Amino acid sequence: MTIKDLSEKMGVKAKDILQKLLAKGVLYTVNKSLSLEEAQMILDLFGMECKSISFEDKVLEDVREEETQGGEESLCERPPVVTVMGHVDHGKTTLLDTIRHTHVAAKEHGGITQHIGASKILFKNKPIVFIDTPGHEAFTKLRLRGANVTDLVILVVAADDGVKPQTIEAINHAKSAGVPIIVAINKIDKPDVNLLKVKQELVQYGIVVEEYGGDAVCVPVSAKKGIGIEDLLDMILLVAEVHEFKGNPRIPAKGTILEAQLDPQRGPIASVLIQEGVLSLGDAFISGSTAGRVRALFDDKGKRLKEAKMVTPVEVSGFEEVPAAGDSFQVVNTIEKAQQISLLRKQMAVDEKRNKTAGRLSLNDLFDRIKEKEVQKLPLILKTDVQGSMEAIEDSLAKIQHPDVTLQIIHKAAGPITESDILLASTTNAIIIAYNVRPSKRTREQAKEEQVEIRYYSIIYQLIEDIKQSLEGILKPIEKEHFLGTVDVRKVFKVPRVGSVAGCYVSEGKVEKDGQVRIVRNGIVVHTGKIQTLHHYTQEVESVKEGQECGIRLENYSDIKAGDSLEVFKIEQI
Ligand code: GDP
Repeated sequence: MTIKDLSEKMGVKAKDILQKLLAKGVLYTVNKSLSLEEAQMILDLFGMECKSISFEDKVLEDVREEETQGGEESLCERPPVVTVMGHVDHGKTTLLDTIRHTHVAAKEHGGITQHIGASKILFKNKPIVFIDTPGHEAFTKLRLRGANVTDLVILVVAADDGVKPQTIEAINHAKSAGVPIIVAINKIDKPDVNLLKVKQELVQYGIVVEEYGGDAVCVPVSAKKGIGIEDLLDMILLVAEVHEFKGNPRIPAKGTILEAQLDPQRGPIASVLIQEGVLSLGDAFISGSTAGRVRALFDDKGKRLKEAKMVTPVEVSGFEEVPAAGDSFQVVNTIEKAQQISLLRKQMAVDEKRNKTAGRLSLNDLFDRIKEKEVQKLPLILKTDVQGSMEAIEDSLAKIQHPDVTLQIIHKAAGPITESDILLASTTNAIIIAYNVRPSKRTREQAKEEQVEIRYYSIIYQLIEDIKQSLEGILKPIEKEHFLGTVDVRKVFKVPRVGSVAGCYVSEGKVEKDGQVRIVRNGIVVHTGKIQTLHHYTQEVESVKEGQECGIRLENYSDIKAGDSLEVFKIEQI
């Protein structure tokens, strides 16, 4: 607040405040906005006290008050929000299309025309909301920002292809979010499909269908031919009924940003899923760190609305800035308040970025945090070169016992580290254990940005020891890897009596002669060793910089291939 605002609250003249400040050698004007400390100092001068509450807390307090006013009886059943996940080409998009085409009345403004991140269908007079972007990237991205919009997941598994890596990833993402899964076994129109086999494969991943004594819901469908779609929708309604998804229609509207963009004509617009309350034209709101006032509302059929009830996806215009997908959306009573919160959140975002590392789990500070009782579970994501090493590592990890901490493998797979792994690690605060696999440059940058720790190993024994020791608090990192650069192998020359010389291009950082290299082929480490000679043109050199070409010969290794990528690093003793 400004000195003027404060003087009104204190019941003293602004002039008197300024005079007292001047006497202390401080020259302010009435419109100077005050920090909490400054306000406190002024109040002290007048023998008054203040209590501070953040705008955010105040808003939440107000909302809570209204919620309790609304009371339990205001909680109503609300439509479920469904995300379709599964392996690529298993038919997610086709399934969504079929559902939307068959269950949106054609007279409703020509069906769903607008892409607003989610769409609402009516089945047996009950609404169901589908998130438009299938796959777990979108799902995780929203979760990463603290938004849990999905109530249930449809896991699409193609009957002719079975459980595949992304099927497993999707299962793990849904499980870690605690969201119920309905399996849709798709493409049953194809000849010679074996449903039992798919169901059997699913059992391994904790999805046990009736035939195998479990209660997982599984519906055979053909997205293309429209078979079984009604059964699937019936199941969605049934699962929704069992889980009793509820919301309060009487509180100020709140929701989540699904997508946002800058429209050249209309300014910042966003698709918002209204999850509770009713959003009306003219409502002031805060979303992420931006504020705004609802200028126009459209639904997924392109229809202009005056208000949107829970649960409805709508396109909202009137944002001051473009929010981010996953940001929360909250109606507040005045635009001034929204703007104040927006400012506060912007400042907080800066601080948070600074402190982000503090919250992240790292093997090095694990013991201290166990002592502080901050950590009871150590979430791990395990990525390995081959299935066999994964099983071996898992077995060894299972043998590690600790009185206070349990190891929890959130996701495991053979293959390179992907962006999706980083996202999952970031949302679950997991550490990624990489056994003979590497991330791409982009993934590595993303890990850095998200402050996700990736631990690289090439010896199982060392991996297990590291984890054991960090649990015991005796992990003393003696060697730390220092990344120098990446080199692409363009051509390999066989030189008589010398061996293979790799003609390379330094695509990132630099290469130093006394560095070590790791040969990465399709994300998998095939060799780690030393450089024997480093040439720039014909000259033997100590280092070669980014953007230059060089010739590299490795010590005791000649099976280098064009297309390989060399990761150059140094080991630092710490
Ligand atoms: P997505 O990558 O999971 O979104 O998969 P798509 O929906 O793009 O489908 C991949 C391919 O499978 C397309 O060629 C579809 O036509 C085909 N497909 C999808 N559903 C079915 C189905 O029920 N039966 C058959 N035979 N093909 C299907």
